[in-house]
Amino acid sequence: MLQQTQVATVISYYNEWLGRFPDFPALAAASENDVLHAWQGLGYYARARNLRATAIAIMEKHGGTFPRNPESIRDLPGIGRYTANAVATFAFDQPVPIVEANITRVLSRLLDVQTPVDTNAGRQRLWSSAAQLLPRQGAGRHNSALMELGALVCGVRPNCQSCPVKTFCRTTKPTLLPRKKARPTLKVRTEHHGFALRRRRVLLEQSEDRWRGMWILPRLAGRPATGQRLHRSQFPFTHHRITLVVYSHQPPSEKKHSVQRWFPIRELESIPLPSPHRRALDDILSSTPDPVS
Ligand code: SF4
Repeated sequence: MLQQTQVATVISYYNEWLGRFPDFPALAAASENDVLHAWQGLGYYARARNLRATAIAIMEKHGGTFPRNPESIRDLPGIGRYTANAVATFAFDQPVPIVEANITRVLSRLLDVQTPVDTNAGRQRLWSSAAQLLPRQGAGRHNSALMELGALVCGVRPNCQSCPVKTFCRTTKPTLLPRKKARPTLKVRTEHHGFALRRRRVLLEQSEDRWRGMWILPRLAGRPATGQRLHRSQFPFTHHRITLVVYSHQPPSEKKHSVQRWFPIRELESIPLPSPHRRALDDILSSTPDPVS
């Protein structure tokens, strides 16, 4: 939950999540719809799907008990090297390295790594250095200390005067490290969607790509020839800045669409909707004179 999201935002989600899914059996038995609904607003919905898939794998392959060794943890859905090693070292004190943003900053400065840290060569260098520095015992505390060092002392503005490892530090220009590749330029695009209201119900479509499984306003092929513009907003998505434009829309009543459904307005709160589409719906419904007629 904390990936790309601030702690203050996460706390209420975390408590609510544990209330709804307190253990692996509860999460494994939940529907994807319920899981996406509990996650809505946090973005990157693959994480919610993977948590549910992990709970199912733990129930089916590990007898309901979370595995202790990093290889078995890494076999779980959506878990890569960092998460597997972090769980193994912090929960089970396994002697495995971890490399995240704080440790990346510390190691790249301590060792004066000039290779961009977001390349394969840079990542390889940091992971093998982190492995070499591991003590035989107390790896969990060591990893935790490295993270704290990066968070509290060797931050974006490093406090080298009070750094406990300054005598080993090789860099003379810490603020220039870690190096990164040039960022890809942001692409802009506009996406057109329709809003249709009939007998207190709103037409929605189940997304099959970006927000797979969640409900969004029906996509339109382009800007419609007729139809009033009801909403316009922007949101970021990976390397894109997307402009969402919503028009009033009259879908042909006779044609059935496999992934579209009419939802009563009062039910919108309980279905999973990605934040940009929920904001658009709230905006449109709040400015519709009598949305329930
Ligand atoms: S001496 Fe400065 S740059 Fe080096 S690890 Fe300490 S805080 Fe970071």
